Amino acid sequence: MSKSFALIKSTQAETQKNNKNDEVQKTPKHGGNPLENINLQFDRAADLLGLEQDLRLLLKEPYRELNVQVPLKRDNGKMEIFHGYRIQHNAARGPYKGGIRYHQDVDRDEVLALATLMTWKTSLVNIPFGGAKGGIAVNPQTLSHRELQALTRTYISKIDLIIGPHRDIPAPDVNTDGKIMAWMMDEYGKKHGYTPAIVTGKPLALGGSLGRTEATGKGVVITIVEACKAYGIELNKATAVIQGFGNVGSYTAKFLNELGCKIVGVSDVSGGIYSEEGINIPELMQYVAKEKSIKGFLGTQPLTNEQLLEVKCDILVPAALGGVLTAKNAARVNCRLIAEGANNPTTREADVIFDSNGIPVIPDILCNAGGVTVSFFEWAQNLQQYRWELDRVNDELKKTMVRAFQEVYEISKLKHVSLRTASFMLAVQRVAEAAKMRVL
Ligand code: NAD
Repeated sequence: MSKSFALIKSTQAETQKNNKNDEVQKTPKHGGNPLENINLQFDRAADLLGLEQDLRLLLKEPYRELNVQVPLKRDNGKMEIFHGYRIQHNAARGPYKGGIRYHQDVDRDEVLALATLMTWKTSLVNIPFGGAKGGIAVNPQTLSHRELQALTRTYISKIDLIIGPHRDIPAPDVNTDGKIMAWMMDEYGKKHGYTPAIVTGKPLALGGSLGRTEATGKGVVITIVEACKAYGIELNKATAVIQGFGNVGSYTAKFLNELGCKIVGVSDVSGGIYSEEGINIPELMQYVAKEKSIKGFLGTQPLTNEQLLEVKCDILVPAALGGVLTAKNAARVNCRLIAEGANNPTTREADVIFDSNGIPVIPDILCNAGGVTVSFFEWAQNLQQYRWELDRVNDELKKTMVRAFQEVYEISKLKHVSLRTASFMLAVQRVAEAAKMRVL
């Protein structure tokens, strides 16, 4: 048993207090705001851990928030100002780590919620990073290639003062990719010299890691395999429904399918498709590569994204957006296990409904942590100037994810709490321990 887990172990009498009813009573009347939801989970974990007030104050607040003006000379010669963010939540366990999102809806609250989630995610899988997130409020589809590159370089030059390979390491997120990471590394290198470890998610030719592309989907499936063992679901006889068929959704579908699980429904932004006999995933992946959408895939019937989430199946994987499982639809969700491929897909109210309906939820900070885990491997390879074989990446990923699931599952059984509460307890405990040693 690990040292930090041992600290969580309590007496039987304490354990009795922390039953499901207790969780239900603490549920707020609302459930929509992601930061509020994350902090409610933090508070609950802090209560169960008996965390002292000083540490609560220290761990809840972000360490630093940087708001930057990102001016861009458009192709038509006019100047436009965009707003950029980098929020560093906590670095007690290692340098800040988190992606950079380009989206018109990016704002301070969203970036802060995602930065906070990163602190708990990196801690939960026990990789030596803290949590951060960044973004620019921009619709990148409206920019030319030159404009996108200029915007990226200006943004990096503005946040340069707080990032670094031992300070804060960005990565791709919504609408940012390997190409954008390459520009970021190049811009940072102009001032600091060759520094591949400044960002992760880079193309292979620039020091990216083998296995990074499929890592999040692979991690999702590793946690599903463990959960199926724990909750008595026979994966090779099971059915699954997956919302989202992008990076996370498509690889989750592929790896689940390879284990004999029948994928009966998937969706993307254009809507959903269903087949009782099971969808041919390798063919669907080829179809999507060509058509850029799952719409019209042969041998399936169409359904809406809302209907998709209510299809009867064994395993439901939301792998697209946040806030899709809510008080409105949770009671109609008809599955035996939910695996959160996406970040924040379940509101607090929906969580309580799943709990009382006996549907275990593998929470985002555990389920989709495979991506940041392989980002850690990429960073380690860059610092070592050494390249790992794919088998090593996949073996280490499996070890990390299985260990994290088992630690969380044990706490959930011991304390009679959900997998989400158990995950927060373990994650908060580790960060609290490190923060206490450093500053208190
Ligand atoms: P992606 O852009 O590759 O794919 C997103 C998918 O969601 C696409 O199929 C898109 O069509 C679909 N989608 C978009 N809007 C939709 C809507 N309104 N209804 C239904 N489907 C819709 O993104 P991704 O990298 O697969 O990320 C998906 C989720 O996983 C996000 O929440 C992201 O934060 C989270 N996540 C991703 C990673 C990673 O490594 N890629 C890691 C951790 C968490």
